[in-house]
Amino acid sequence: MITSTVRTLATELTGDDLPAYVYDLPALRAHARAVRDALPPGLELYYAAKANPAPPVLRTLAPHVTGYEVASGGEAEHVRAAVPGAPLAFGGPGKTEGELRRALTLGVERFHVESEQELRLLAGAAEDAGIDAVDVLLRVNVPLASDELGGAALAMGGGPSPFGLDPEAVQRCLPLLSGAGSRGPLRLRGIHAHLASGLDAPAQLTVAAAIADWARKLSERHGLDDLTEVNVGGGMGVDYAHPDRRFDWAAYGKGMADLALRHPGRTLRIEPGRALTVYCGWYVTEVLDIKHSGGEAFAVLRGGTHHIRTPATKQHDQPFQVLPMDTTATWTRPWARPAVREEPVTLVGQLCTPKDVLARRVQVPELRAGDRVAFAMAGAYAWNISHHDFLMHPRPGFHYLDT
Ligand SMILES: *Cc1c(COP(=O)(O)O)cnc(C)c1O
Repeated sequence: MITSTVRTLATELTGDDLPAYVYDLPALRAHARAVRDALPPGLELYYAAKANPAPPVLRTLAPHVTGYEVASGGEAEHVRAAVPGAPLAFGGPGKTEGELRRALTLGVERFHVESEQELRLLAGAAEDAGIDAVDVLLRVNVPLASDELGGAALAMGGGPSPFGLDPEAVQRCLPLLSGAGSRGPLRLRGIHAHLASGLDAPAQLTVAAAIADWARKLSERHGLDDLTEVNVGGGMGVDYAHPDRRFDWAAYGKGMADLALRHPGRTLRIEPGRALTVYCGWYVTEVLDIKHSGGEAFAVLRGGTHHIRTPATKQHDQPFQVLPMDTTATWTRPWARPAVREEPVTLVGQLCTPKDVLARRVQVPELRAGDRVAFAMAGAYAWNISHHDFLMHPRPGFHYLDT
């Protein structure tokens, strides 16, 4: 599963060049194209930039996505600069008045409004700026039957939630929106929902149908003819235990095509993050030491969860491949090379905390000091969610392969 370009670089880098993040941009391009091709042509695909906002990643995705979902003023500025001209949808809780003003100045195309107060702040900011038309999607905690979410890893809707608006609150927002009574600058263009993460394709389709049905009922009940957009969110599942079992985009695309037929005149939109970029990134490092304690083997790696916090936050084993380093030049010390063979080994980093574990008791044929370890699925929620400064180890190198 590791491509030869990533493997070659991983073995050519010296110990002092490690750890390194290696991004396989051709693999990202191929994956994004395959995802886009599996979706019906009318469905809009936004990329949730918070998953990985590195400019080469944003730019590689550009030909394959309709736009980008940004979740802060910082992301709005950053994505605007990295991919000028690409449509932006500004979501996220706790938008400040300053962020809203700046987003208006940047010409952000869609605002995903999360509360009644935010709607009022946005209206005020637009009036102050002399902007007479701002396109709004209300983020709604669309009610779902409890069995609809199945095995969701991170349920964000369907219960008490700091995100979005409950259906009752939506009623209170309508008078502030044009098309629903107000002559103010805010236009209600649609409904946005992001209810859960980690769903497989059938569960995603169930959730999408519930959101689209809810939007239709709202628009019929209140005669909202301009409510033409339904953003059903992201959260397409990935499987860290089985990197080769990917989200079934073909089944999802087919289901979304059927959903679009049932909702003529509405634009459906999705905004995945993780499932688009997770596979393109590798965190490559080397084994510094191997030791045994209490009868168990530990491999101490250069780097750790301050660079890739994903396994600590999600409490999983980060998938990895061992790249054996067999040249005699690798081991020049006058003592025996520390090694484990045919036994479970726990891969830890350099931090002084027992939480700095990347993978626990994983069976490996052989692992020796100096061998390289390439952690897979490090392209999303990896470097950018990590606490880099803890212990002041050097930062990793960053390599964006594009050949
Ligand atoms: C984080 C987030 C996404 C992307 O979620 P993934 O699990 O990365 O697909 C999309 N929309 C909203 C509102 C989010 O908060």
